[in-house]
Amino acid sequence: MKKIKKLMATALALLFLLSAFTMFASASRPANVQSWWLVGRNGNLTWSGSTRYQSYFDFAVTAWNNHRNVIRRTTLFTSTDVIIADDTIPNGSWVGITIERAFAGNGGINVGRIWFNEWWLFKTPQAGRRMVAMHELGHALGVCHIPGSNIMQDRVPVPAPTALSANDRAAANRAWNYHR
Ligand SMILES: [Zn+2]
Repeated sequence: MKKIKKLMATALALLFLLSAFTMFASASRPANVQSWWLVGRNGNLTWSGSTRYQSYFDFAVTAWNNHRNVIRRTTLFTSTDVIIADDTIPNGSWVGITIERAFAGNGGINVGRIWFNEWWLFKTPQAGRRMVAMHELGHALGVCHIPGSNIMQDRVPVPAPTALSANDRAAANRAWNYHR
């Protein structure tokens, strides 16, 4: 009887350790990876809508697709993960694009919206427009801010970078492996 009790206690302790480890494992996220992304269950990031800054958005899509070819325009047969639209919000501190997250449709997967803030973008050089479009798509792909001269830095320097850095690409790979 004593031996059985001891065995049970050991088993319980092991169970506790296991669950603690599982909790720790699920809480530890790789560096520069967000807790969320907008990629759908089919492995594509689909977008719909339109913007006056379409050429900059298209540039950003091509840049990310050259790294991992998953960003697609929504068709009649696919649901939307990201909606793009224009807005004008006079606010000096707000850079240009935000992502709204809503738990709607698409099997409970996040659906986001990228707003192009014309108030800010109309006076921003081309490189800056490209950078912010790439930056917000990076968030949609699950990447956090990365300090340094990366697309995912939290500011828009002049001149702005318009190419993904090794850090941007590595973080996108970690996000892919973490969320998939
Ligand atoms: Zn950001």
